[in-house]
Amino acid sequence: MKINRLRLLGFKSFVEPTELIIEKGLTGVVGPNGCGKSNLLEALRWAMGETSYKSMRGSNMEDVIFAGSQSRPQRNSAEVTLFIDNSNRTAPAEFNDSDDLEVTRRIEREAGSAYRVNGRDVRARDVRLLFEDASTGARSPALVGQGRVGEIVSAQPQERRRVLEDAAGIAGLHSRRHEAELRLKATEANLERLGDLIGQLT
Ligand code: ATP
Repeated sequence: MKINRLRLLGFKSFVEPTELIIEKGLTGVVGPNGCGKSNLLEALRWAMGETSYKSMRGSNMEDVIFAGSQSRPQRNSAEVTLFIDNSNRTAPAEFNDSDDLEVTRRIEREAGSAYRVNGRDVRARDVRLLFEDASTGARSPALVGQGRVGEIVSAQPQERRRVLEDAAGIAGLHSRRHEAELRLKATEANLERLGDLIGQLT
């Protein structure tokens, strides 16, 4: 799975529709201070399902929407789309009917975020698992932020193990196991409650 292209609309400083083509090999983004280089990487993480507005350098998630400038009014929505090459068919089964995937996250003021894959509404969880299975995602070690290397060097063994597991692409399995455990616990609680009710009736 390879990200070929990134499209932004109204995301942070990118008020105009903007596309970044990611060619084979190394891509460098250069520009003066404050031109939006970090915003591009944040757009990538955000479309993959980032839930922490602090890590997007905001005070709430709506801060990713273009806030206006001297010459332009603010916008009421922001959208980022990742164009992914899925020709090796590594996406989870529900998305694996196409060689190309378009993953879109959109946020509207006072309405929150919504996700689409190839135009179909999906849950945030589906997008998170899609990227976790591909050894990447908003929190994955595939995206190395400032200070991250130092953090890993001084991390506890368990945290380091998580980094290795993310890199091996098994984070999605952990998420699924966690969800299954929660469902199991809820079912056990229901069974217990049922037992109580049967006890009261007999
Ligand atoms: P540096 O080289 O200094 O790290 P950079 O190229 O990485 O800079 P960014 O930090 O990506 O730049 O972009 C900062 C710019 O984005 C600032 O000019 C800031 O005003 C603008 N910006 C951030 N959020 C918004 C927003 N919601 N609306 C409009 N502009 C925004």
